[in-house]
Amino acid sequence: STRGQILSGTDIAREIRNSLQEDVAKIKNKLPKFNAGLAIVQVGGREDSNVYIRMKIKAASEIGIKPEHIKLPRTITESQLLTKLNQLNNDPDIHGIIVQMPLDTDNNINSHLITDAVSPDKDVDGLNTINEGRVAIGDLSAFVPCTPNGVIELAKRSGINLVGAEAVVLGRSKIVGTPVAELLKWNHATVTVCHSKTKNLKEICQRADLLVVAIGQPELVKGDWVKPGAVVIDCGINSIPDPTKKSGQRLVGDVEYDAAAKNASYITPVPGGVGPMTVAMLMKNTVLSAQRAAASLLKT
Ligand code: NDP
Repeated sequence: STRGQILSGTDIAREIRNSLQEDVAKIKNKLPKFNAGLAIVQVGGREDSNVYIRMKIKAASEIGIKPEHIKLPRTITESQLLTKLNQLNNDPDIHGIIVQMPLDTDNNINSHLITDAVSPDKDVDGLNTINEGRVAIGDLSAFVPCTPNGVIELAKRSGINLVGAEAVVLGRSKIVGTPVAELLKWNHATVTVCHSKTKNLKEICQRADLLVVAIGQPELVKGDWVKPGAVVIDCGINSIPDPTKKSGQRLVGDVEYDAAAKNASYITPVPGGVGPMTVAMLMKNTVLSAQRAAASLLKT
């Protein structure tokens, strides 16, 4: 039997970040006073959010993007948060704005309203309705959401020819499954989307040349669900109990890795697969936004 090669998000993300650092330096050469700025808005102080934000701040700083971490109290109201976002939308030194989700708030804040309040021109998470609509109709000048963009980049690096490929996506969430399926469709794959009501999940997975899994169910996808030679991209990040670990737990994906790797041609590990690509794609969108701002400054 074949043995799946590891599709390392850690390595590919590093290459991408290095090339983004060069892109930022090029802007600086033309416009020495220009600073690419990324605003990271955090409401409250969830520990998991703190970890993600630290990773984003570190990646931005290394590339030459100026991160601005805006910490707001749990007591902030929806209208105060909207005012803050409006201020950032109008700030010429800010090129990307993300609101770290989930909001850790005492108040009833509509998170959909908040993501839609970020200007589509600074929506580097690609989560507002305008950008979602653009992606859905294949307008890829939009800011593409980061995890889905990372999935496509990983798929391309595996060498798979997406044109006409049988792609199966498990999950249909707003942030992963749905945009992954749209992007695969516009990359000319034939796409099947599965969810919690899908029948014959195993048989559908066995058809896939490319299997993308984003369901949040630890190791639900078994080795024999993977067609020999298929590419498997596992978005899942699940913490399961493991008494042999000091922390008492460990991370696994949505795919039974060892068994799936026996059939797959390429497979992403967890951790070190899709996760680091998400951060790299956030940086890519922020650099893209900064390049657009710099180009318009050079014109005037
Ligand atoms: P959601 O919970 O929002 O969505 C899960 C989707 O999977 C739903 O569409 C659901 O179906 C479907 N689903 C759930 N159980 C099953 C099942 N047994 N069989 C088939 N389909 C099922 O999750 P997310 O999309 O936000 O996240 C998915 C995973 O990806 C999680 O592990 C999350 O931690 C991880 N993630 C990783 C990121 C990264 O940066 N690497 C970023 C974001 C998420 P239905 O619609 O019918 O309910």
